[in-house]
Amino acid sequence: MSNIQRVSALLACMAIAVGAMSQQVVCHRGHWRAEGSAQNSLRSLVKADSIGAWGSEFDVWMSADGVLFVNHDATINGVEIARERSEKISLQRLSNGEPIPTLESMLDLATGLKIHLVVELKPHRLPDGTQDIERERKAVEAILAMVHDKGLESRVSYISFSAFATKLLARTAPAGTPVYYLDGKRQSDGTIGIDHDMTPSHLWLAGVTGVDYQLKALVNRPELLDECRDLGMPVNVWTVDKPEGIQWCIDHGVDYITTNEPELTMRMIRDKQLK
Ligand code: MG
Repeated sequence: MSNIQRVSALLACMAIAVGAMSQQVVCHRGHWRAEGSAQNSLRSLVKADSIGAWGSEFDVWMSADGVLFVNHDATINGVEIARERSEKISLQRLSNGEPIPTLESMLDLATGLKIHLVVELKPHRLPDGTQDIERERKAVEAILAMVHDKGLESRVSYISFSAFATKLLARTAPAGTPVYYLDGKRQSDGTIGIDHDMTPSHLWLAGVTGVDYQLKALVNRPELLDECRDLGMPVNVWTVDKPEGIQWCIDHGVDYITTNEPELTMRMIRDKQLK
């Protein structure tokens, strides 16, 4: 190899190293579009790991008898996880034939993989529709204990739409644990907006380490990125599947892109690094 080739190779490596710090890809509900996979399945975690994605996201609910299950919706096959006992929930199957995973089965599987886990605790509600603070408190405690017992603390981030759970995670997780507040829900007037009392500054004061914004909310208010940068808070963006959205995230230097199209996103990040 000539000196010029050596310098070129070194520069290419440096470009990739610098770029690698700018965007990481999180598979939304695992790599569930892969063959034989399903959203939030064990296979979706293996598939996410196999393509070299930085992270894999999944959703957690606590059953009536305190068992943590992984599922996006509040119900599976008509069974409401938060209202039923674990024996009945465990009988339910995903679309790929797997039984619904428990958090414990997901973490056990992860111990043999390299991928980072982005654990979303779903907001729990009482039958009258009000927030079930007590269940969320128990879930936070149980999740942190289980992640600790499995030796996975350095590979787990937490996200939640529940302000209570997010702040509790920020207060009780080991120092340095990434905890992100999910924001950018549809408001009562139909627009996608940000919670007024959960701005980056509010979150920073509560010890929350980052923010996880819906793409449209951030496109409408890109100045939030500057506020996060000033506070040293990383920004994750959900759920970015279209090439124009992925490109927007790359061009604006967000830290994490959560996507149902992880391979396309990784390819676009690599292409940008090589330009
Ligand atoms: Mg989720």
